[in-house]
Amino acid sequence: MTDARDLVAHLRYLQEMGVDGFSRDAAWRVRQAEPHQPATAVTSEAPPPAVGPNAPTAAGGLLPVIRADIGDCTRCKLHQGRTNIVFGVGSPEARLMFVGEGPGADEDEQGEPFVGRAGQLLTQIIKAMGLAREDVYIANVVKCRPPGNRNPEPDEIEQCSPFLHAQIAAIKPVVIVALGKFAAQTLLQTETPISRLRGQFHRMGDVDVMPTFHPSYLLRNPAAKREVWEDMKLVMKRLAV
Ligand code: URA
Repeated sequence: MTDARDLVAHLRYLQEMGVDGFSRDAAWRVRQAEPHQPATAVTSEAPPPAVGPNAPTAAGGLLPVIRADIGDCTRCKLHQGRTNIVFGVGSPEARLMFVGEGPGADEDEQGEPFVGRAGQLLTQIIKAMGLAREDVYIANVVKCRPPGNRNPEPDEIEQCSPFLHAQIAAIKPVVIVALGKFAAQTLLQTETPISRLRGQFHRMGDVDVMPTFHPSYLLRNPAAKREVWEDMKLVMKRLAV
């Protein structure tokens, strides 16, 4: 929360979601454990210098290497229709990471994940948690837009998901929120439906994964915002220090 307007928006959103009971105390904020540098946004821009006073942190240094490894990717057929590779954005030191399915038209155009209508809803959810997009890291299972926003296909997920796993290994988040079926099933290597996966943490290596409904689903089914908020409350609790 940076100002009164943000607070009003926060309260309005909670009211809209029908949330009863929430903390106004942002003391649990995700990156507050230690004094830290201002968050460095990582996009598909040129990598920061590897040495010198502006040298990146370990994770901040690894992410550009992963991005460089992707290169001007032609590993799967999705490259044929893309405008931009949508790598990821946010803090390289985030303790909380959101993983979506794949870029839509707006993301493809801007080269940044979750900037369209679903993205605006995700930003509201992040704000409702007392955070900003810069505090977390946001990425997708596939980094190029599936044509017509179709679902990503198994061969596309297989080619692209190693880069997601590399991003996770670099950032080392405490919690990953898996947004929707594709993120949850890819990360957890399961075919269990999202409706059964959500609502509890699943362990993936050192990371706690919280599957929840995708913001696009919430746009079509606003009533499910309540369940997503229940999931986010568990995430906030897990991150509390
Ligand atoms: N939906 C996703 O899964 N990811 C985005 O980046 C945008 C919409």
